[in-house]
Amino acid sequence: MIDIVSGSDCVGCKACGDICPVEAISYKTDEEGFWYPEVNRDVCVNCGLCEKTCPALACHYASGENRKEPKTYKAYHKDKKIRYNSTSGALYYALAETFIREGGYIVGCVYSEDYSRAYHYISNTMEGLWRIMRSKYFQSDTEGIYRNVRQLLDEGRKVFFCGTPCQVSALYGFLRKDYRNLFTVDFICLGINTPLAFQKFTEELKQRYRSDIAEVHLKNKLRGWTNLGTMVTFKNGRKLYRGRDNDPWVNAFVVGKLYMRPSCSNCRYKGFPRVSDISMGDFWGIRYTKEEEKLGVSVALINTDKGDELLKCAEKDLVLEKRRFQEAVEGNPALIQPVAVNPRRGEFFQRIRTEPYSRVVWSILGSNALKRQLKVIKDRTRRLLKRMLR
Ligand SMILES: Cc1cc2nc3c(=O)[nH]c(=O)nc-3n(C[C@H](O)[C@H](O)[C@H](O)COP(=O)(O)OP(=O)(O)OC[C@H]3O[C@@H](n4cnc5c(N)ncnc54)[C@H](O)[C@@H]3O)c2cc1C
Ligand code: SF4
Ligand code: SF4
Ligand code: SF4
Repeated sequence: MIDIVSGSDCVGCKACGDICPVEAISYKTDEEGFWYPEVNRDVCVNCGLCEKTCPALACHYASGENRKEPKTYKAYHKDKKIRYNSTSGALYYALAETFIREGGYIVGCVYSEDYSRAYHYISNTMEGLWRIMRSKYFQSDTEGIYRNVRQLLDEGRKVFFCGTPCQVSALYGFLRKDYRNLFTVDFICLGINTPLAFQKFTEELKQRYRSDIAEVHLKNKLRGWTNLGTMVTFKNGRKLYRGRDNDPWVNAFVVGKLYMRPSCSNCRYKGFPRVSDISMGDFWGIRYTKEEEKLGVSVALINTDKGDELLKCAEKDLVLEKRRFQEAVEGNPALIQPVAVNPRRGEFFQRIRTEPYSRVVWSILGSNALKRQLKVIKDRTRRLLKRMLR
């Protein structure tokens, strides 16, 4: 039975619920907003399938021969609009589009319509691809997805699954069979945030702007890819853009690592070989042209022969350049190191119950973050004054 996985190891993939033959497993969300399995012992028949599937107990791979040193490319999409609308260089879009063109299915994360949650979704249309693309930086609900993917695979459909490395591992653990028609991609994963923090962040904005949200675009490139911008469009037509220096969500995630899942500090998916056919990420740490700095550059780590096949299908849409594997590792410590726990994490979860989101974040992140915020306000005022004088 799955309760041998302690709270700090469980990655919340929900594969144990999908595999259980007697529906003995349900999920309960704790006060931090993360879900964990609960087993109904009266129903459990002790078959052990949940343990065999669990990605917190063992890593499950695309093949027995995932490369210890993946082939490494710098990659970006030739179409600038698609690249602008993606998180990094739109490598994902190029790969996914080939499946849709061939009548296959893509599986990835989408926001719910009211932006209160994220969940895994299956599509075979371009509209679906535009919903699935882009990073949603909090945990995606995958309940039921493994069963649905298996059904498609058994029907002989081509499936392209994208998720965190632990979600991809959960899928392989669930399937326990080598499907020729399954292809997977994961991303370099800093860690996954609680949906609760995202809800608090958006609730505060909805109150301030007196409107529901029409769209959230994290890592928006209006002022460049490296500015890690947050763009929120409201239903009343108003818009908000904040850069990495003055957005509490980006600071709490990237700088503070304030509200990640406990398992991410203990992640067994760091290092190599990686679980999927391809791993993608931002190609941090190399020299960029002005255009690259604005529109983003992806790193592509090709982990398997199937990954080579995938890249070949998409290469006509991509600008590709072979790079040294070490360059990818040097620029992105999240490839090899689990994230450290912020010592004030507990305080965040305590205070967020009664205090406004941004006040809690800025007061915990401390003077440096506040100094950066003041500088942004000063710069903005200076620009405004200049414009008025002109
Ligand atoms: C939580 C998180 C942490 C990340 N940390 C890093 C990092 O430390 N370093 C780095 O280089 N890159 C990181 N990335 C990856 C990066 O943000 C881009 O997603 C990646 O480079 C692909 O960019 P793209 O332009 O090719 O595709 P995109 O259009 O961004 O495609 C994104 C794909 O990721 C999937 N996805 C989005 N959100 C989630 C989610 N919450 N859960 C599961 N799947 C999701 C979508 O389904 C889609 O298939 C992270 C992504 C996430 C979601
Ligand atoms: S041991 Fe079998 S029956 Fe019991 S919870 Fe796990 S999968 Fe379900
Ligand atoms: S890691 Fe996934 S399979 Fe393992 S206990 Fe947690 S939810 Fe279940
Ligand atoms: S850091 Fe590790 S445990 Fe956390 S979501 Fe990413 S792959 Fe899963």
